[in-house]
Amino acid sequence: MDFLKKISFLFLFLVPFFSLQAFDIDEMLDGDGLASGFSPFLRIGIKTDIESFMLEGDARILDKNDKVLSAVQGLFKIAAVSGGIAVGGKVFKVDAMKFTSELIPLKVEGRMFRGDIEVHLKNSKLIVVNKLDIEDYVKGVINKEAIPSWPIEAKKTQAVLARTFAVYQKMFNPRSTYFDLAPTVLDQVYDGLGKEDVTSVEAVNATKGEVITIGSDPAKIYFHSTCGGTISSSAEVWKKDEPHLQELKCPYCANSSLYRWTRKLKVSDIAKKLKVKSVKSIKTVRGRTRVDSVVIDGKKMPVNKFRELVGFSVIWSNDFTVTKKGADFIFSGKGAGHGVGVCQWGMAGMANQGKNHYEILKFYLKGIEVRKMY
Ligand SMILES: [Zn+2]
Repeated sequence: MDFLKKISFLFLFLVPFFSLQAFDIDEMLDGDGLASGFSPFLRIGIKTDIESFMLEGDARILDKNDKVLSAVQGLFKIAAVSGGIAVGGKVFKVDAMKFTSELIPLKVEGRMFRGDIEVHLKNSKLIVVNKLDIEDYVKGVINKEAIPSWPIEAKKTQAVLARTFAVYQKMFNPRSTYFDLAPTVLDQVYDGLGKEDVTSVEAVNATKGEVITIGSDPAKIYFHSTCGGTISSSAEVWKKDEPHLQELKCPYCANSSLYRWTRKLKVSDIAKKLKVKSVKSIKTVRGRTRVDSVVIDGKKMPVNKFRELVGFSVIWSNDFTVTKKGADFIFSGKGAGHGVGVCQWGMAGMANQGKNHYEILKFYLKGIEVRKMY
């Protein structure tokens, strides 16, 4: 066999081998996992400062050291009482207890939760915490953020974003000594085991343990609905430079219904919302890519304050122009949200074009890696 023949013979075998490798997405994971010893559990503060609540299920009651105190079955009232916690009228002289059920998820005030329910007594009030596996938490929040019709790679991207957010908060920014995250928009909206659709669960399972990192730490990530064509840097929008949150062109989000929008508002309605008698003129002051502040009759206010007063779902983004026409102000805008980090409709657009979730994340977030944390 001469040299050329040998080479082409080799290629016959190597080419399919390499092209198969190119589709092995495990190869796209970066580096090793994070710090060993990380416990993949989260504590969500589902109720704080309450006197009592109803719990339903078939559960064992454990103390702080996991010693069994009792067992309960059915629907019962948990209440803060002098010097302890009462369960269905029986008082336990403890300042914390845990309800655990191996069989069916427990219900708090009628809502079902995976994992354990911890109850803490503080200043004669109760703090109710749902302690659960991070993966189960991500399954609970992904439905609030992902659109059911999105392709699977977009949902996988959203799962990694939600997991990264939770891990970052737990490690660097926990809400209190009792819990890591709030169940509201302060963190991510979580109300337990909701309607988990099949592809969302599949997206969470397929990305199990994957976290966006910078170096060996989880990254602080941001996402928004629709950028409208341009992702802005955190330096521009929040006056804080983050190397992974840079300006870039996004050609993928035109399918969003808010890619371009127009809202007509009566001058009198705007005045009412801004709590002033009348409004003669509204001007915008732009930064590099977006509106930085709004000037109302010569008085300047940050764009976010303006959006908050007029309505975040009226003025959909911080990228708009405004004109006065008779008794109306006409707002014409691009996109929805703050425009920093990952564009969610853009990630759906990229997924529709065949990109996988690693490629999507690396397009929007500069210099990041995706590692398996556990
Ligand atoms: Zn976009």
